Amino acid sequence: MVDLSRRGFFRGKPRPKAEIRPPWALAEVAFVDRCTRCGDCIAGCPQRIIVSGDGAYPTIDFARGECTFCGDCVNKCPSGAISRADNEQVAWLHKAVIGEDCLARRGIECRVCGDFCDTRAIRFPLRPGGTSLAEVETARCTGCGACVAPCPVASISLA
Ligand code: SF4
Ligand code: SF4
Ligand code: SF4
Repeated sequence: MVDLSRRGFFRGKPRPKAEIRPPWALAEVAFVDRCTRCGDCIAGCPQRIIVSGDGAYPTIDFARGECTFCGDCVNKCPSGAISRADNEQVAWLHKAVIGEDCLARRGIECRVCGDFCDTRAIRFPLRPGGTSLAEVETARCTGCGACVAPCPVASISLA
């Protein structure tokens, strides 16, 4: 499969903006109340996907990479704004969403996102007489964001 994104095709379109907090963050109101904006989670993320967002509160930028759910940000957070009750607590409920700009929806063969999804959550069911459309099987999607950056038309977001 040719990886168009690595050749620089179809770049330059603005990515949908979404304020996604670090994994295991408290609910938004409690998070904003508790977070001191110290930036320790930003500095401590080995993937460098936590950035300073609106009001200097940390937010995830999947254009920079994926979350490996290593938990380093949780361990660095001194305030408890991101905290994990136990190893069973899911990091978040975000799921990948394929947008209208998806090349397959425009009749162009592209399966780049599927190639980057370790859990095989993105499928391309056969469509008689047409290009297979990308579909996210939400039960398999961990919300890792690995499919976001490689999409050549920036059509994937996390919701
Ligand atoms: S879990 Fe690890 S990779 Fe994910 S945001 Fe936290 S530090 Fe970064
Ligand atoms: S480490 Fe915790 S308190 Fe500091 S910016 Fe990150 S979430 Fe906020
Ligand atoms: S967010 Fe991760 S698990 Fe979900 S579809 Fe994208 S690559 Fe697959």
